[in-house]
Amino acid sequence: RGDSKIADRTVDSVCPYCGVGCQLTYHIKGQHAEDERILFVEGRDGPSNQGRLCVKGRFGFDYPRHPSRLTTPLVRRPGVPKGLDPDFDPARPLSHFVEASWEEALDLAAGGLVDLKAAHGPDALAGFGSAKCSNEEAWLFQKLVRTGFGSNHVDHCTRLCHASSVAALMECIGSGAVTASFMQALEADVVILTGCNPTINHPVAATYFKQASRNGTRLIILDPRGQALDAYAHRSVRFTPGGDVSLYNAMLNVIVGEGLYDEAYIAEHTEGFEALKAHVSDMTPEAMSGLCGIDPDTIREIAREYATADKAMIFWGMGISQHVHGTDNARCLISLALACGQTGRPGTGLHPLRGQNNVQGASDAGLIPMVLPDYQPVGDAQIRSAFEELWNTKLEERPGLTVVEIMDAIHAGQIKGMYIQGENPAMSDPDLHHARGALARLEHLVVQDLFVTETAQFADVILPASSWVEKDGTVTNTNRQVQLGRAAVALPGEARPDWWILQEIARRIGLPWDYAHPREVFAEMKRGMASLDNITWERLERENSVTYPCPAEDAPGADVVFSESFPRTGGKAKFAPTRPLPPDEPVDEAFPTVLITGRQLEHWHTGSMTRRSQVLDALEPEAVASVSPSELLRLGLHPGEALTITTRRGAITLKARVDPLMREGMVFVPFCYVEAAANLLTNPALDPDGKIPEFKYAACRLGSATTA
Ligand code: SF4
Repeated sequence: RGDSKIADRTVDSVCPYCGVGCQLTYHIKGQHAEDERILFVEGRDGPSNQGRLCVKGRFGFDYPRHPSRLTTPLVRRPGVPKGLDPDFDPARPLSHFVEASWEEALDLAAGGLVDLKAAHGPDALAGFGSAKCSNEEAWLFQKLVRTGFGSNHVDHCTRLCHASSVAALMECIGSGAVTASFMQALEADVVILTGCNPTINHPVAATYFKQASRNGTRLIILDPRGQALDAYAHRSVRFTPGGDVSLYNAMLNVIVGEGLYDEAYIAEHTEGFEALKAHVSDMTPEAMSGLCGIDPDTIREIAREYATADKAMIFWGMGISQHVHGTDNARCLISLALACGQTGRPGTGLHPLRGQNNVQGASDAGLIPMVLPDYQPVGDAQIRSAFEELWNTKLEERPGLTVVEIMDAIHAGQIKGMYIQGENPAMSDPDLHHARGALARLEHLVVQDLFVTETAQFADVILPASSWVEKDGTVTNTNRQVQLGRAAVALPGEARPDWWILQEIARRIGLPWDYAHPREVFAEMKRGMASLDNITWERLERENSVTYPCPAEDAPGADVVFSESFPRTGGKAKFAPTRPLPPDEPVDEAFPTVLITGRQLEHWHTGSMTRRSQVLDALEPEAVASVSPSELLRLGLHPGEALTITTRRGAITLKARVDPLMREGMVFVPFCYVEAAANLLTNPALDPDGKIPEFKYAACRLGSATTA
């Protein structure tokens, strides 16, 4: 590329958006903080992208220099009510906040937390860390809550995406991460993709699935919606929303009934198969067909294709996890793999496609209320004692509250103060009236972020933090690859690294922290996390990426795990039988349509970064709802006309978009648009195990803006 000649320097780092973890190079013009800028981005030869990038990685790099970027600490003006103000301009926040020095802001932020703890005890405080921050920052955040606040009320957006998958994986195979990378799809004979839409949500991973298909791998896509990968699929089957558990149980029934299971594998590596066999005996394809909307013969064919493949993999996304039966969904997929011996070999495995760039790493590092780092239960005295020795303090043994439970606890008067780092619950939580009402009730809210996000508009103190392109740190992608990100440009104005801000807050609440660089935090993490054995900061500086678990400092990490045994007592995986459950809020006469929420290719989560990225926002500038052509015809609307969507919790109006991949009876809305916030409509009902809300099914009513 000729234009590389005009860059003054390059910096190698990692994409800040999705869990694929593409390695990239920033090409930068200018040598000084005042005039430097990223000119363009190129893909690097990373293990998960091999030079490829999607539109977000390639063009979504300018958000850190957006005019609304926070460059100084802010403190709420006395008397300004907390809440979203339609007239508030995040680029000119001084109508609601006043600028403060770091000393003033940090004293106020920490002082408010200390006062609430003194008055009401440790249970009055909670924190949300961020899957957008580094592993080191996630470690520090959960350490701050556990050792400073004195509780386990710490969570992050895994609770809104794959917590149910992790719950099922921990229960059945003893590990919450993938058993094989997505590159292994190239080795597989059959790949099932279910409840995921990789070309939208994991675009570079999708290129591996396309390549696998071209090489002869049979792709089987199971989803209520159609998708671009259908063009590469051997079979694409659209089932009824919420019909997943019935479909998978019917497949298990066929596999058991026709003796297609792997008897030797089951005997050597699993327990509980006899109970599963008995359990699925009445869930025949005929019995389940009405619930999942797939004819019995097709169910049989899919089951046979998966079970008789030499090597088969299952990939899933939030279409599986974001249900009140999300954990059951994942249990079924695990049972399918175990019954057919489809783990532990190249080209086999179970892979929940993780969403955020560091949701795997943040979860590993302990940003979860019921487990310490490396998923070690807080209730286990021996484990707690090891961390008490490491951190030189006593730890709370009761598990903490999860994201939605924390919002409920604020309304109940228990939680009175919060520290939120880089998360945006005023957009991402279900039933936003409830979530925003909770944020407004907090007596003290500290928000650490890049912009005055919707959540920051509720804050008492806002601390200007660092974007991914301005920091050194490690992140862990969906493949368990720990990768090194490097600061490419300077922080603007008074903004500071997240680890530095966390340390300053920690010191003010009495913790003797003294880290000089993230590498020192990483060294401490290695003392509490066996998963990082043989991975050092120096090694990452040399190699950029190392997969865990890694057997030696000079060996590559394990792309495929659990060949010999599973990390459960006795070394065997466990079958967990399930039964179909209806959605929490089935459609009815008053609300006959299924609302599904999710992401767009161009916009990331709540849009705080991508809607401030010029190219991405130009590609998708306004809120849209996707419906089938026949649905639009039925509503008497033309594409682009205003569509109102109403649920039991509220209504939004946005532009209708025709999508031939949608079925009648459903509507899809991205949750990144504050002007038509999808989560004003969503159902906060939780999966009982993963505590994840049912974002993929809410009963709604559609109408033109005038008739709804
Ligand atoms: Fe970034 Fe994901 Fe796109 Fe790769 S696929 S460039 S990690 S958003």
